[in-house]
Amino acid sequence: MIIGVDLGGMSAKAACFSGGALTDRVRAETNAAAPPEQTAHIMAQLCVAAADAAGRDFGEVEAIGVGSPGVIDSQNGIVVNWTNFHWENVPLAALIAEETGKRVFVTNDANAAALGEAKYGAGKGYRNSVFLTLGTGVGGGIILDGKLFEGGKSAGAELGHTVIVQDGEMCTCGRKGCFERYASATALMRYTCAEMKKNRQSLLWKYAASPEKVDGKTVFSALSEGDEGARRVLDTFVAALGEGVVNFVNIFRPQAVLLGGGISREGDTLLAPLRAYVMPRLYVSAEYAPLEILCATLGNDAGLYGAAEYASQKI
Ligand SMILES: [Zn+2]
Repeated sequence: MIIGVDLGGMSAKAACFSGGALTDRVRAETNAAAPPEQTAHIMAQLCVAAADAAGRDFGEVEAIGVGSPGVIDSQNGIVVNWTNFHWENVPLAALIAEETGKRVFVTNDANAAALGEAKYGAGKGYRNSVFLTLGTGVGGGIILDGKLFEGGKSAGAELGHTVIVQDGEMCTCGRKGCFERYASATALMRYTCAEMKKNRQSLLWKYAASPEKVDGKTVFSALSEGDEGARRVLDTFVAALGEGVVNFVNIFRPQAVLLGGGISREGDTLLAPLRAYVMPRLYVSAEYAPLEILCATLGNDAGLYGAAEYASQKI
């Protein structure tokens, strides 16, 4: 039995994982002001609580897998840098191992979610997949031959920070024109606001009283009533997302591209135009090398599944 832990800025979650299923999720609050040792202690306790909740003996636990935000040196289980929590070179695996006596493996949270979704969610059955989380930014994960590809020093797979518009929008990473500036939920909201400002007749105004009230769903609500402005917004977004997807497919040629994040709940409203954009632009046709574009199905559980799967692959 493996325990998966998903560490986040607001809470940490843990669950036992055996036979391909999670049981009895437990959670505890986390906070940025606490020293890393205290957060590691909370996580260790959470692992014990997860075994308890599942009615299992902690002695049965073979390993603990952790998905953590930040830059992770997964080989050594170190959180190199997590800006929100002001963590630098925190030996998270060692801290949790010391208290639990178990082997502990740590990977980046976006990578964990990608692995979880690939093995147990929408990507089940595909050996090769690329996962994109559309949120504030765009997180990426690459699964090759059933395994997470992390790159050297586990610092690769930053798909959101590949440029699709030279000299484009300024990105938080210091470059201009990164994919995530055009294909994140934040970008979709920016396109929605821009359309509202130049089109007072748009039904977008019915679902957001002002541009400040726009969220990731506004455009989809207006679109469900056939609004032309909303259609333009989605077309702009799909074109940007599609350009990145074509790039990643041309490089890795996965069997499936999986989309996560809140927007992915829109299903075919997003997938149909995206497929129509991507398929004719692929360097090698999908008739020759089949490609699926799918929405994630595990939601918030993807990270837990992936953390557990990551540890189980390491032992
Ligand atoms: Zn960037």
